[in-house]
Amino acid sequence: MDLQVVRQVAELEDWISEGGVVVLSGAGLSTDSGIPDYRGPSGSARRSTPMTYQAFTRDPVARRRYWARSHLGWRTIGEARPNDGHRAVARLQEAGAVQGIITQNVDGLHQAGGARDVVELHGNLARIVCLDCGELTPREWMAARLDDANPEFRGVATAVNADGDVELDDAELDGFTVVDCMACGGMLKPDVVYFGETVPPERVSRSFGLVAGARTLLVLGSSLTVMSGRRFVLRAVKDGIRVAIVNRGVTRGEPYAGVVVDAPLGIVLPHLASTVATVSS
Ligand SMILES: [Zn+2]
Repeated sequence: MDLQVVRQVAELEDWISEGGVVVLSGAGLSTDSGIPDYRGPSGSARRSTPMTYQAFTRDPVARRRYWARSHLGWRTIGEARPNDGHRAVARLQEAGAVQGIITQNVDGLHQAGGARDVVELHGNLARIVCLDCGELTPREWMAARLDDANPEFRGVATAVNADGDVELDDAELDGFTVVDCMACGGMLKPDVVYFGETVPPERVSRSFGLVAGARTLLVLGSSLTVMSGRRFVLRAVKDGIRVAIVNRGVTRGEPYAGVVVDAPLGIVLPHLASTVATVSS
């Protein structure tokens, strides 16, 4: 680490040691778990445009293609395990330094790493929701049903995106069979917020509430490209709450942050967790 990074990390240690930290995490926290960040420096830019809610609900062909791709992507996302960064955040929460966690990720890895009370802004790929009756079911059930319905499907994903979508030739998607809700026959969708869909208001207000009560808003692994995350930074700045960012590469939050650490999260976060644990014990 160069001197600049060392100084910034030392400053961040001081801030975190004071407690009252609310974490806002993005895809960069999960790259060490094998889930690519298609916006970050380690991710290849995705070729396909993300599925929109409108296309998913209105276009049967788009929906079938989506499910075929997402079914393959789930094999990667579903097998992903939390990394040192996720575990460090959980330790900081356990130590009382972190009092809230808001994530833009849909992989559930904060909780798998031991964190509690995580606000999942964009939902969780491990759940399936029926758009008609609202029933929530585990993703494993959906995966098993899709396997049963598509015994001949042998698609091979070329690249998995953080939202569980994969790149796949359209020719491989022909004939893929989608299944419907077992309770009501309605349309099923991963319980995640698509492009063109709004984040449920109660999640947004809960997140704003966490930010309002924070001493420090700590952004982890997010370039803050989308307003859905950036608005919390803007609110923090407006309320005079200090902002720190740990992220690989450029972030749009930089002008608002008092501390910016451009270094691997898998090194910085465990370091912070052990420092703060020492301070509080
Ligand atoms: Zn239903």
